[in-house]
Parts: sequence; structure tokens; C-alpha cells
Amino acid sequence: MTELLGLYPEELREWLQARGEAAFRAKQLFGWLHRGVPFAEMSNLPLKLRELLPKEAVDCPVQVIRERTSRLDGTKKLLFSLRDGNCVEGVLMRYQYGITLCISTQVGCRMGCRFCASTLSGCIRGLSAAEMLGEVLAANGVLDGEQVHNIVLMGSGEPFDNYDNVVRFLRLAGHPEGLNISPRRISLSTCGLVPQILRFSGEGIPLTMSLSLHAPNDEIRRQIMPIAAKYTIRETLDACREYLRVSGRRIVLEYALIDGVNAGIEHARELAGLLRGLQCHVNVIPLNSVPERNLRGVNEQQVSAFLAELKRCRISATRRREMGDDIEGACGQLRRKYMEETEL
Ligand code: SAH
Repeated sequence: MTELLGLYPEELREWLQARGEAAFRAKQLFGWLHRGVPFAEMSNLPLKLRELLPKEAVDCPVQVIRERTSRLDGTKKLLFSLRDGNCVEGVLMRYQYGITLCISTQVGCRMGCRFCASTLSGCIRGLSAAEMLGEVLAANGVLDGEQVHNIVLMGSGEPFDNYDNVVRFLRLAGHPEGLNISPRRISLSTCGLVPQILRFSGEGIPLTMSLSLHAPNDEIRRQIMPIAAKYTIRETLDACREYLRVSGRRIVLEYALIDGVNAGIEHARELAGLLRGLQCHVNVIPLNSVPERNLRGVNEQQVSAFLAELKRCRISATRRREMGDDIEGACGQLRRKYMEETEL
């Protein structure tokens, strides 16, 4: 079975021509697929083709199987099912400038960050480009006529550990006859796979690159992120500088405050020193505590003090709004809960 959603228009044309169909059907089919329309409802395709399609191909490979809406802010946590029985999470958040969807790029993750729930059971597999697009289409399906406006690749998985599929997804999502979501409306978060950041710099996709930094020096970073044993912060920031140079987009640094580890004023000062001269913005994230991990978040005062110190050092920084706190908003939490329940 071919996941047609993951094919570029020219590949779709070849696929159809190999089945004796006219080339112009590709444009029609592409438009329908990327609007989330099932095969049976593709009304301008001949009946013969509409009957052939479900025998050899898949339209949308993702479905929403659970939906929880936060009473606090309307954030929706979605659980998506994939065709092989696996499931991944997404989150819909409403901001002033439109609806943002956070999608997963892998089932689980193998990066092993100590504070993250997505990595607790390792990585099962990477998602295909069609599955990532399917997450967006399935999310549009629960939106009552509204559409996802921005996408963040910040759900479970390390996008650069699934490089080819992620690049294909980004190109397809930006296609004018598809979702038409340009890279400017997309953020990609990485724990810092240096060779892939450099390779991505050559793809010509100017999105917002977010680096999960979480530490002001290599010693602290190595305590909480295994990737830090492989690449130093200096190498990682140099790769980000290269991306900034070619894309012209400032880098976002994510920094989750963990009590007793990286949240002191001295750490804020050290971080500011590290980032001096880099066109960037720091997203300070109060740690979402994960019951399986014995790392603690910080209190309001600590967050404010950390931010104030960064600002005093003239580093652009904001606190990331916590959304959906009442609905297992943190990475990997809803899926784990669902798996635990279904295993009972
Ligand atoms: N693998 C990618 C993207 C997925 S994680 C990455 O590492 O960036 C998305 C963001 O959530 C990352 O910044 C990650 O470090 C952060 N994160 C993971 N667990 C968290 C937790 N318990 N509390 C706060 N942020 C967390």
C-alpha cells in the first residue's frame, strides 16, 4: 500500500501513469489528498480510479483516537493512531496569531534526555512524511472549519534522527497546492545533532530553528542530555550560526529550568556569556515534572529571577507559556498514560 500523501506531485504523476491514468489526474489527486478528503469523496476522479485507489493506496494514514481539551486555556491534546497500531501525540494551541499544532516526528525517541517522557521506552520508529502530514490533516478535522496556521516539530521524537522524512514533510507542507504552510510558520526543535543541522543549512528551508540547550556549559549539559557527550555546546552553536547565516532566521534556544541543576542566577549569567553576539531568543521553560523522573521544576520566583538576569545581560528572553497543564501537556505524557491504561 502506497501512502500517497507522502509523494511529491511528480511522483504522484508517475504512480498514476504506471496505472494507465492521465497525468493531469495527479494535480486533482494531490489537491484532494492534502485537504484531507477520503478517496471515496474525490468527486472529479473517474469511478474506476476511485475504486482502484483504496486497493493499492492509503489516503490519510492518521486518525485522532483521543481528544482532551484543557479547561484552563482551550489547548487540545490529541492522540493520533497510525496504521500499524502505534500512536503518537499532538497538541493544538490557540495563540493571538492563529492556531499552532505541535506534532511528533517519531514513535518514542532514542535521545535519552533525562527530563523527557518521550524517551522512556526508546524509539520504535520514525514517522513517514505522510504520517506527519496526516497529523496536520487529522488536527484540522477536529477544528470546526478553522485550520492549523503554524506547526512546531516539538512532539515526541528527534526530527533530525528522521532527517529524510522530515525534509520531505517540510517541502510537502509548504507546497502551494497542498497545505501551503511556508517554513516561516514552522519551528523545528532539535537536541542538537550537529551534522544534520549543517546538512539542513543546505536545504534552503528557512524555518525557526530551536535548539534544546538546557545548560550553560558542557558539564551540566552532559548530566541531563546524552547528546552532549557527542557534541560540545561550542560545536552545536557554531552549527546554529551556520543555519542563521544561510536562513537569516534568529535561533531560538530552549532552556528548561531544573531545580538544583541549571536554574541559578550564576547559570543565567553563564548562559548570557555563551550567547553574546548570537542573534537569538531564549525560551525559558518551567520544567514539566514527569513522575518517572526525579527532576524537580522551579518556583515562580526562580523563573522571574532567571529571566531578569538574562535581560539585565541584554539577552532577549521570554518565559514559555505553559498550556494544557491539566491535560498531560508535557511531551509523551498522554501517550504513556494511554498505553498504561490499555495494558491493564
Ligand atoms: N527532540 C527535539 C524535539 C522534541 S522535545 C528536541 O529535543 O528539541 C521538545 C522540547 O520539549 C525540547 O526542548 C525538550 O527538551 C523539551 N522537554 C522535554 N521534556 C520536558 C519537560 N519535562 N519539561 C519541559 N520541557 C521538556
